[in-house]
Amino acid sequence: MAIAILFLPIHLHGDEIRVIFPNQQYRRVALRTFYMGNVEYLSGQELAQVFSVNSYVNDDVNKLVLYFREGEVKVTAFSSFIIVNDLALQMPMPTYFDGSEYYLPARAFFSVLGATVLPGARFDDVRRAFVGPDSYTAFNIFSARVESKQNGTLIRVRTNEEFDTRNVVRYITDNGWLVVQVPGGIVDTLAVSRSSLGGIIRSSWGRQLEKSAELRFKLTDRISLPEVYQIAGGTELHITIRNPVRPKGDRTKEMREQWYLDTIVIDPGHGGIDAGTVGRGGLMEKTVTLDVALRLGRLLKRTTNMKVVYTRDEDVFIPLWQRTKIANETGGKLFISIHVNGVKNRTAHGFETWLLAPANTEEAIEVARLENSVIALEESNHAYQEFSDEALILSTMAQSAWMKESEALAAIMQEQLSKQLGAPNRGVKQAGFLVLIGATMPKVLVETGFISNRIEEKKLGQNEYRQNIAEGLYDAILLFKQKYEGAMLAEQNQ
Ligand SMILES: [Zn+2]
Repeated sequence: MAIAILFLPIHLHGDEIRVIFPNQQYRRVALRTFYMGNVEYLSGQELAQVFSVNSYVNDDVNKLVLYFREGEVKVTAFSSFIIVNDLALQMPMPTYFDGSEYYLPARAFFSVLGATVLPGARFDDVRRAFVGPDSYTAFNIFSARVESKQNGTLIRVRTNEEFDTRNVVRYITDNGWLVVQVPGGIVDTLAVSRSSLGGIIRSSWGRQLEKSAELRFKLTDRISLPEVYQIAGGTELHITIRNPVRPKGDRTKEMREQWYLDTIVIDPGHGGIDAGTVGRGGLMEKTVTLDVALRLGRLLKRTTNMKVVYTRDEDVFIPLWQRTKIANETGGKLFISIHVNGVKNRTAHGFETWLLAPANTEEAIEVARLENSVIALEESNHAYQEFSDEALILSTMAQSAWMKESEALAAIMQEQLSKQLGAPNRGVKQAGFLVLIGATMPKVLVETGFISNRIEEKKLGQNEYRQNIAEGLYDAILLFKQKYEGAMLAEQNQ
């Protein structure tokens, strides 16, 4: 049955009516109302939310059903009749419906509720408030408080009745939410979303299901299923999460099984306002790195079916953290950051490849300092707050899953560049390069030459030399792909 929708100016003259729960003085809630003529209307769905009752909209027959504990209230669009537990009651004016919300004449509807499913509830003219029944407690599950403990995280959920915890459903979603469903629970969803957080819980919210209250907690780490305990007297539910114990190597194995070199991330160092190091002749690092990167990308695209992702493909400034983010979000399987060296000692020349690890020599610290200094150019360095010492250690450890592969890639790259360039092979080195932190894949940073050396600056300015660098890197990637995809697949088949 189709119903003509009346377009009424219901959003004009908006007002509100407070809702008071004598049992829950701390609650400050109000229902928005609208005047049509001199009759004040409110949204049925909003009322359901405030009273924490389920509601159901039947679009076929234009009915709204509210499920109070004391019974069902059925409202029909444009009808003045309300059905409460099969009893038909008539209001002095009809409801309105705007295609999604059902609007009820506030005073008349409050009278119906007070006489039926909310016994004793009344409208207080002085306070312009709808006062719930004295004993009415809309909820039996309230806000949660998360406490960080030595061996895990404790979520204390405030309740006002005892629940049978044997029936509590717990599971963890693929995207890291812990879901706890408490049968018989009626949850104050607003309060739960404002719970105090901590431990491994990043956010929380709740929703009312037909027969259960559902609480959701966003986890920052993988956990096994927590235990749920009822505290005697029914004042709290305790959800206890033990610190994750991750068997060594497990995660690595999992990652290895998924490793197939189909996407390669090429990161041309610097760009835009960050020129990198600049040679005496005026050649800028950012120009060389971009050109070499594009040459390498073209070679890969022309002869393989690998997807090539550039962190930048023009002369723009990209913060370091964003480069890693691009690598992870595009499903990169290999990350190659291309740079050009610059040092005070103008005789230094040749190429070298770097791995992410705590810097262990003066020289390594100096090179890392130079490449990391770009952060000073970034407008806001909030993204690096994560790089506290502890985060650095954790990140380095997480990356150690790919350390073996990164080392192998670096070695192959040095070998292949050596064949191409006829410049000194300065070997594989280690330092704490920020651009390498966070990328969850084998990753290296290559310093293709010294712009601070007059002869090498000249070479780096030539197309032919840049092409040679790109070809060296290209050969290295193909060799690495051949060797490691094979090894990993063989490992899987054992
Ligand atoms: Zn650089």
